[in-house]
Amino acid sequence: MMDQSDFPAPRMGEPYLLTPGPLTTAAEVKEAMQRDWGSWDGDFRAMTAEMNRRLLAMAGATRDAWTCVPMQGSGSFAVEAMLGSLVPRDGKVLVLANGAYGQRAAQTLRYLGRAHQVINKGDYLPPRGPEVAAALDADPAITHVVAIHCETSSGILNPIEEIAEVVAARGRKLLIDSMSAFGAIPLEVGAIEFEALVSSANKCIEGVPGFGFVIARKAALEAAAGNSHSLALDLHAQWAHMEKTGQWRYTPPTHVVAAFLKALEMHAAEGGVAARGARYFDNRDVMVAGMRAQGFETLLADRWLSPIIVTFFNPADPAFEFDRFYELMKAEGFIIYPGKLTVVDSFRIGCIGRMDAAVMRRAVAAVARALKVMGVTDAAPPPKALEERARLAA
Ligand SMILES: *Cc1c(COP(=O)(O)O)cnc(C)c1O
Repeated sequence: MMDQSDFPAPRMGEPYLLTPGPLTTAAEVKEAMQRDWGSWDGDFRAMTAEMNRRLLAMAGATRDAWTCVPMQGSGSFAVEAMLGSLVPRDGKVLVLANGAYGQRAAQTLRYLGRAHQVINKGDYLPPRGPEVAAALDADPAITHVVAIHCETSSGILNPIEEIAEVVAARGRKLLIDSMSAFGAIPLEVGAIEFEALVSSANKCIEGVPGFGFVIARKAALEAAAGNSHSLALDLHAQWAHMEKTGQWRYTPPTHVVAAFLKALEMHAAEGGVAARGARYFDNRDVMVAGMRAQGFETLLADRWLSPIIVTFFNPADPAFEFDRFYELMKAEGFIIYPGKLTVVDSFRIGCIGRMDAAVMRRAVAAVARALKVMGVTDAAPPPKALEERARLAA
């Protein structure tokens, strides 16, 4: 291909990860891990403080009313820490689910023994303001609402402003899983009312995996002492220890934090959230247009397509086999993602990570070659998938 990308390719033989994290990171981010830090040392404490400062700034939050608390582990550990610490034991949560991560939030609450209720919208549709309002009006015991910002299992971008308005108007507290959106889709404390958001190192900020972080109202953390069911995932304890000592409570992922600081620097240099989001939107538009031109269909209607990841139906052509397709794409230097839907067969292509539209054009060309090798002449989905989409997305 003559298509020049502004971004250098991953190292020789290393594929692009068209996945929602871990994802393709910059060489500079990986290089930042080439030394060791003492967790207790002042240098590392300064790195943690700088990271928290930058993350708060990204959310438009100031240190007087807001705080950022990192938590070791993958994103789900941070979600669990947020839910277990910020929801009191006698609280009740309304979970807005339209995919696997909403279901996981509900499952987490089940493990934690927190009362909850789920609005389940299936795979195709977002939860909307009026139904959230109705659920809150019907049950005054609900104290918190959990919303998924971008539901990464289908790629749907949920209308978080609309949800936040309804929740705030009814005096309830909104907890946002912005794992796969924060850093690329604006989410600022001045624009959207919420209690806390959670995200992680290895999504739109383009770091490597190893920790998540919760940006929360300081008052929420102050009130959270004794809520947690878990020692290691007690967000209040982590926060209190960090406030007092500048250190993480238990062994921090030092190298991951160093890489993340580099990623934050590069995020700012690119132009912050707006520029990061614009690049991902561009990636998506190029990729979706190239896939549709081959007959592929997206699961979602255009208005709900996120710039994070896109779900496509598997082609109806019996010559199409996902495992084969996956291997052919890998041989071309692209790792794609299986689908995560409940009913129809699908796969996903991610738009996030250190890559641009030129890389996406190459990915689309690789898809065309893979179809040819398999002998798939038309990538159109089975009529039954389209019927179901029409029925469920109405
Ligand atoms: C990635 C992600 C998570 C966390 O998943 P982990 O595999 O635990 O990192 C949670 N919610 C959403 C919406 C995500 O995209």
